[in-house]
Amino acid sequence: MITLKSYAGGEWRSGKGKGRLLHHAVTGEEIATCGSEGLDFNGMLEWGRTKGGSRLRSMTFPERATLLKTMAATLNENLPEFHEIAASYGATRRDAMLDVEGGIAALGFYASLGGKTLPASTFLTDGEIARLSKPGNFVGRHIYVPLEGVAVQINAYNFPSWGMLEKLAPSLLAGMPSIVKPATPTAWLAFRMVEVLIASGVMPEGTLQLICGSIGDLLDHLTCQDVVSFTGSASTGRKIRSHPNIVKNAVRVNIETDSLNCIILGPDITAGSPGLAHFTEEVFKEMTIKAGQKCTAIRRLLVPKETEQAVIDDLKQRLGALRVGDPAVSGVGMGPLVDQAAVESARRGIEALSREAEIVFGDPNRTQFEGAGTERGFFMEPILLRSKDADRAESAHEIEVFGPVATLMAYRDVEQAIRLARRGGGSLVASVHSEDEDFIRRMTFGLAPYHGRLMMINAKAAPESTGHGVVMPHLVHGGPGRAGGGEELGGLRSVHHYMQRIALQGDPERLEKLCAPAAGE
Ligand code: NAP
Repeated sequence: MITLKSYAGGEWRSGKGKGRLLHHAVTGEEIATCGSEGLDFNGMLEWGRTKGGSRLRSMTFPERATLLKTMAATLNENLPEFHEIAASYGATRRDAMLDVEGGIAALGFYASLGGKTLPASTFLTDGEIARLSKPGNFVGRHIYVPLEGVAVQINAYNFPSWGMLEKLAPSLLAGMPSIVKPATPTAWLAFRMVEVLIASGVMPEGTLQLICGSIGDLLDHLTCQDVVSFTGSASTGRKIRSHPNIVKNAVRVNIETDSLNCIILGPDITAGSPGLAHFTEEVFKEMTIKAGQKCTAIRRLLVPKETEQAVIDDLKQRLGALRVGDPAVSGVGMGPLVDQAAVESARRGIEALSREAEIVFGDPNRTQFEGAGTERGFFMEPILLRSKDADRAESAHEIEVFGPVATLMAYRDVEQAIRLARRGGGSLVASVHSEDEDFIRRMTFGLAPYHGRLMMINAKAAPESTGHGVVMPHLVHGGPGRAGGGEELGGLRSVHHYMQRIALQGDPERLEKLCAPAAGE
């Protein structure tokens, strides 16, 4: 049994008491304990602010970029071990690559952004000089400076590596130290990655700390210079957003929560066409990659009434050929959910969905799966539902079943399809499959205010598409409303999130001197 320790104030510390137990998702075996009781959370913040913050702020963007590059190289040396740990939460090889290599790629992206496009300076200038007086001796200009607090980064269980690294990369590049708080069920991978980084000596003192276990009273000690970046359920997001100290100090918060993402099939794509195969292949991938435990996974399928049956038949064939079980068994395409609580929560969600929809594929109570020792694992086979009446359905537009579960809804016309998509109340991503430019235009502007990303697939884009659920660091990750109202990645924008934008006003020569790239401020 492993004890997952926290890295606080430059030392590895175990929590007092027993902590929470982590289980192997495939076999149900107890593998680790994780607890943070007794940590000095305020001390961690202070240590980060004083040691890590001052060090990072004295580094230029290319120097911070080199740090990210070195972190990526260090982590890359340990890939086999990280994949082994990912197997403990049920990842197939493909799932583990999305999480581990995907996270390292985000570090690489920001290393390249910082190294190639940002100045050898400790702050950034923004936009043009604004002339504010007729003679021209009084002008204004914006600059971005790093905040002087700590970035507190709270992550969901489904991406212990990617979730951590995609937040760390922009905050370190901005010049802010981090305290990382992985979700307990999969904290082992984040723990080991931080352990590798600290042991290698690559992290300047105070720039990276880790909490394994609960966050304790840390939020009570945040100031206006700290930032909270949260990924997880909508209910935890609400607690953080409304935390009295966060409200009192207007602490900057970014919230990424759940999402009822949809995929829409255009009326021009007919049964038996290659376009329909692209569509069902995408749905199949989204239902089964990481056993559907992806915030961007497709939860709702909107298809024209005429092609509804063809879509169901095709999906039943694909899902029927899938082997579910221990990913270590050759040919197994989908592993388990993370723990028993996740299975029970998914079953409850399916039961609620079933009141307004019929299950057309899968048995939520199936107990036999491939591989020795899987009887005590946390498995669920893919479940496809068909809504009885898309307009009247409530639960399909409200309940996120965080597993391999999706609901198909038939629509009559473009207006209804847009209305149904928007009933998700704000989503991370939607996909539209069509060759019809007029349909695409109407869908784009009908869906845009409600989504963070929109993927448009036709025969030209399909073969090169990175996929509905794959988040690219160049592009926005986030969405309005139910999706949390936050924004991550998207290039430089997420670096700005950890900096203060300030308008400087004064005489032009003075501003020119002040805004010239400066190192080691
Ligand atoms: P969760 O239960 O809300 O937990 C998320 C994180 O918050 C965990 O680290 C958890 O720690 C921590 N936490 C719990 N209570 C807290 C509190 N009172 N104050 C501060 N932190 C607290 O979510 P989850 O079950 O890990 O993740 C699944 C959810 O995340 C799904 O709804 C999914 O859609 C969403 N998600 C969204 C995105 C996105 O980018 N939008 C990405 C991935 C996942 P403990 O584990 O120690 O309790």
